[in-house]
Formats: sequence, structure tokens, C-alpha cells
Amino acid sequence: MSTMKSRNILTAVFICIGLNSFSQQTINGFSLPESVTSNGKRFFVSNQGQDVFSKDGDGFISEICEDGKLIELKFLSQKDVLNSPKGRNEVIIADENEITATTQAKHNILYNYGIIEAFVGGLYRGSLPIKVLKSKGDFGLGAPDMLDGELTMLDGKAYQTKSTGETVVLDNDHKTSFSSVTFFKSDTVFYVNNAIEQKNLLEAIENRLTNRNAMYAIKITGDFNNVRTRAFPPVKEEPFPVLSTILDRQQFFDIQNTAGTLVGYHLPEFLNGIQISGFHLHFLSADTKQGGHVLGFKGQNLKVEIAELKSFELEAPTTKDFQNFQFRKRHNEDLERVEQGK
Ligand SMILES: [Zn+2]
Repeated sequence: MSTMKSRNILTAVFICIGLNSFSQQTINGFSLPESVTSNGKRFFVSNQGQDVFSKDGDGFISEICEDGKLIELKFLSQKDVLNSPKGRNEVIIADENEITATTQAKHNILYNYGIIEAFVGGLYRGSLPIKVLKSKGDFGLGAPDMLDGELTMLDGKAYQTKSTGETVVLDNDHKTSFSSVTFFKSDTVFYVNNAIEQKNLLEAIENRLTNRNAMYAIKITGDFNNVRTRAFPPVKEEPFPVLSTILDRQQFFDIQNTAGTLVGYHLPEFLNGIQISGFHLHFLSADTKQGGHVLGFKGQNLKVEIAELKSFELEAPTTKDFQNFQFRKRHNEDLERVEQGK
């Protein structure tokens, strides 16, 4: 494999164009150098580290002066800062004295693991480790392994609210069957001080969503007079039942007088089936002891933060169950006619 061979490259030859002459320098210590860029006075080499494709945190940027001498082999090499920096787009250079390197802005991309239609159709067995989910977002919601309660991600931690009402932190090895996360960065913020019920607050939010066909992440923090949530108990028997046939197993919770955060999304109609269109919110109390899938609430002193999501990354499970799942046929006569040219 070419990747294996190129791992052995530790030396790269630099040809620098000075003001009056060419000079050639050999610099040792690069680790899978990928690209070079210049601000006119310095050269910057992105090094991908041992493994190009893993989030191993061993990437770094080397700084080289115009005569080809190495100034610093590994500036910005702090652990976990860079994984495998590639290309000019991922390296931002401010000026000679102040240099910033970064991977591409990754906030407000909706990462979706799984397809909601398959999940509610009985595919509850988790197949994506929480550790991987965390690399895709620090905010969101989903389902724990085996439909065991509700999953809420806030500030980079994943919580499971069980059907017993207990809320615990999920460890990195736990697997989710369906989750939607993003690195949340709000672009709209407003406050509601007076007591307000779910219906009225969601209407107020909807009025501020400028694009009815955009994806939005929504975070509502404040004091809640009550929040009604639910959580499912884990499934045991296979084949797993379709979710709509076991609604009687849901456990409901009326959480009273607590500070906390509603975490969720407002998604467009066209994603329905892959996702849930409209609002979908989960709750986590400020003490992280209570939560669940939100059915209603009344709150006050609320801070509402909204982020319009820029793009959508969909990852479908590769499990046997998923491969064999029978999706509903969706006929779209117009599309079929256009596709077939008649
Ligand atoms: Zn939910």
C-alpha cells in the first residue's frame, strides 16, 4: 500500500527562492508531509503524522524560513490539536508574528448516525461507539444501545436517561443505534423571562427561523416549572418489536422546578424518514440527574440559542440488520418520470 511506503518518508527536500539566489536545504523530521504554503516570508509544512485517516492527534505544522532553515519543526503540536492537517484550506496564517493553524471549521454540521425509519422499525442494537459520536459533535440527542432510555449530549458529555428515571453518563464504549450531533455554535440568541409553555415558546422560535427549509439546532437554558419527559425500557426479545407497538412500555416523568437545558433540533420536512421533521427536544437538568425525551414543559428566565446548520453528514450503519431492513417504498411519480425521460 502506498500509505505504508510513504510513512517511511522522514526527509523532504526544500528548494527556497530567495531574493537573489536559489538555495537548497535538506530538513529531517517531517512525518508524512502533505502540503506547503507560504506567507511570502515563511513556509509552512503540514505534517499528517503516522496515520492519515485517524484522529490520532499527532499532526503538526513545521515552520521554515525563506533560506530553507527550519525554525520550528513542531509548532502547534499539542496533543489532540491537529490530527492530519491537509492542504492550504486547513491552514490559516495570520501574519509573520502571529500564526494560527487550524483544521477546517467544524461547528454547526449535523452529523446523523442511523436512519430514524429503521430505528423505529426495530433496529435498536447500537453500532456506533459514543467515543466516535463525540468526535462528530458535542451537542445533540439520540438513543442508547437496545432502546435503553434516551440519549442527550451536552457540552461534550453523553447522558442516558433510563426508564427508571435515573440519568447517568454514558461511557465511551457504549454504542448508539441512532444519534444526531453537532458542534453547537449559536447564531441567534433571544431571552424569554416570563413563564411560557412549550407551545408558545416553540411558536416564538419558529417565527425566528428565517429559512423554513433549513436545519436548526436549538438550545434552551433556564428555569423550568415542569418538564414532562419519557424514556423507554431496554428491549430484550428478538426480533425486536416495532416502536409504535410498544408505546405502553414508555415511562413518563414530571420533573418539577429545576434548572436545565433543552437540547435538540428543528429539521425540514424533506428529511422526514431519515430524521424527524419539526422539533425534537431532549432535556437534561442542571445537576445532570434528570432528563429524557421532551413531551411538554413550562419554563421561565429562558435563554434560547439557535444555530442554522450548514450541512448534513449521514452515516448509515453497516450491520447485517441494517443491510436486511426493508424500507417503505416511496413513490414520487414526478421524479420517476423525469428520471425515465417520459
Ligand atoms: Zn427523542
